[in-house]
Amino acid sequence: MGNILSLTDSVNKIRGIGPRYLSYLEKLNIKTVEDLLRYFPFRYDDYSQLKKIKDLKENEVSTVIAELIKIKNRRSFRRRMFITEAVFKDETGELLVIWFNQPFLTKTLAVGSRVSLSGKPVYYQSKKLTLVSPAYEIIKTKGEKFETKFFRHTGRLVPVYSETAGLTSRALRYFIRSALASLKEIPEILPSNLLKKLSLLELKKAFWKIHYPNNLKEAEAARKRFIFEELLLIQLSLLRKKKENDSQKAPLIKVDISLIQEFVNHLDFKLTDDQRRAIWQIIKDFESAKPMNRLLEGDVGSGKTVVALAAALLVIKSGYQVVFLVPTEILAHQHFLTSQKFFKDFNIKIALLTAHQSKIFSEGLSGKIKKETLKKELLSGEPMLVIGTQALIQKEVRFSKLGLVIIDEQHRFGVRQRLALVSENKNQYLPHQLSLTATPIPRTLALALYGDLSLSVLRQRPAGRQKIITKVVPPQRQKEVFEFIRREIKKGRQAYVICPRIEPKELKIASNLLTYRQYLNYEVKAVKAEFKKLTEEIFPEFKIAMLHGRLKAEEKNKIMEDFKKGEIDILVSTSVIEVGIDVKNVTIVMIEGADHFGLAQLHQFRGRVGRSDLQSYCFLLTESGGALTLKRLRAMVNCDDGFRLAEMDLAIRGPGEFLGLRQSGLPDLAMEGLKDPAKISLAQKSAQELLEQSPDLSLYPALSKRLEKFNRDFSFN
Ligand code: ADP
Ligand code: MG
Repeated sequence: MGNILSLTDSVNKIRGIGPRYLSYLEKLNIKTVEDLLRYFPFRYDDYSQLKKIKDLKENEVSTVIAELIKIKNRRSFRRRMFITEAVFKDETGELLVIWFNQPFLTKTLAVGSRVSLSGKPVYYQSKKLTLVSPAYEIIKTKGEKFETKFFRHTGRLVPVYSETAGLTSRALRYFIRSALASLKEIPEILPSNLLKKLSLLELKKAFWKIHYPNNLKEAEAARKRFIFEELLLIQLSLLRKKKENDSQKAPLIKVDISLIQEFVNHLDFKLTDDQRRAIWQIIKDFESAKPMNRLLEGDVGSGKTVVALAAALLVIKSGYQVVFLVPTEILAHQHFLTSQKFFKDFNIKIALLTAHQSKIFSEGLSGKIKKETLKKELLSGEPMLVIGTQALIQKEVRFSKLGLVIIDEQHRFGVRQRLALVSENKNQYLPHQLSLTATPIPRTLALALYGDLSLSVLRQRPAGRQKIITKVVPPQRQKEVFEFIRREIKKGRQAYVICPRIEPKELKIASNLLTYRQYLNYEVKAVKAEFKKLTEEIFPEFKIAMLHGRLKAEEKNKIMEDFKKGEIDILVSTSVIEVGIDVKNVTIVMIEGADHFGLAQLHQFRGRVGRSDLQSYCFLLTESGGALTLKRLRAMVNCDDGFRLAEMDLAIRGPGEFLGLRQSGLPDLAMEGLKDPAKISLAQKSAQELLEQSPDLSLYPALSKRLEKFNRDFSFN
């Protein structure tokens, strides 16, 4: 094959890719040759040990090249599958090979052909060493000489890709290999002096080495290049955003100190010093001419809502609209009620807008309003507070006097999503923005992703709260916990039970192909199973209710209200309960399958209790008693500082848990790079230098083009 492909060609120019594969690849968002080459393997299988049949040893992964002498299919009725049995030979002996459910192999592999087989020999139902389900490839070269560089699936380090229905690693290897082999010379996107200075592989070589490395060191070198490249792109795009942001006008907010004082005096509690400072910092931002971009970090229960509402009050009284975005309907409803309470004597119009409800609170009265009417009022620029679910507002609502965007539980949203809404009425001014999060973002990560973001932190908790007692509960000790919960509920307390998260791995579907609807189905199943177990076997005497994503908004609200009133003893829920919910009489949270959650998220669940002066408890049930799991979870027992738990999470699990990065579509390698402060600051420095030399990157056209594409891919619309 000649060198005919360029990176921007459609994948259908690659040999073997027809309409069927085209549609599978499309689902992975792979459209061009470059997209395909940037679909990096997540690991390699080491099949580089070449052996003769007689030298094979049990459990030692090896490759043999042998001739097929017999092959046949049979059906195993008991286990309902096809078994393909084959015998191979080389000059040292014979070898039994078995595959399951691949009956087509009797057609693919012809007797007499030379085949390379890679796998782990075991004693399978016989005394003979057998290769079970090995990787295989037919060796087409005639004669005795065979060059190892022809290997694709066996005999070397073999790339393994995350697979989706219809698209196996085997197919991906085939396509990627043939794309690489017929690739034209490609323009390097990184400046050559940078490559040299940082000793990074050049692009084409890096593509080869990340897919087909001769050893792990080469793979590492290729990864290093791509990690740097992706971090650099993130930094370039942030620096340019920042510049854009700084050149925007901000809404003019009248800073009325006496109004804030009045608001504070009306509260039925005393603000903590941290809350006061946060409000003060926001006021200072309003006084500057630039749009505010502030993150309010505070542990669960630290009282972020009231700080946000103080800011909202100033903005609305200055004649602007404020939108308060939340991730769930339940939370939207809760904030709707809370803000009515806090704004009781301030004559503020408040609207609630979610997929299933639209309500308005005005002059002391609350009632339904038609969505269309509400949208018209917003478009007309009427000052008010609009609380709603993010998806809906972002899609359907236009504001004409948006002064402040508040984003609750910021980590649930994508990094870019916030910018999308903010940029709406760019022509005149950029609204101020306040993001709230209980997931403390490690400093390194905040810097890497925001650069210019200002930070307010609530470290103190409201006075009079006790430390929550946390216990890790292995399977054999669950009974005791159930008894304990029984006694507490009999005392009049309530409990949350959180169901295990289902990991896409277990669903055997690649996560990026799992639609929200499918995911809901699995979650609902888990909740129903837990509900059945609790009502039938464990707590038949108590009133138990379920909460999950399939319930209608009214049903959810009704359940939450009944629960708040104490008419329900135990609330079984998916992880939706994680965010925001505030019920003071609940003193127990029991988390099933705690091993599946990150520490920061567990800390969030724990934060649902301990919201009054009652002693509260958090039980972390584990499925396995593995030493590593227990060790990780014990961190929860000893530590109730969300910041430290987040740092631990970052070290153990990587940055995916933070800031909705997982949903952001950020490339895996960038995620890995974000773990490493040194890599981040290197990329930051390089990005600054490049932009100093060439603010519009016109000196680096290839890089500039790549940046455009990166920004397109790594966005949410
Ligand atoms: P979070 O920071 O987790 O969002 P919330 O804003 O929901 O926390 O506040 C938790 C509860 O604490 C609410 O009921 C709120 O009214 C109350 N609260 C907030 N600040 C204080 C304070 N300074 N003293 C006492 N209670 C407070
Ligand atoms: Mg909250």
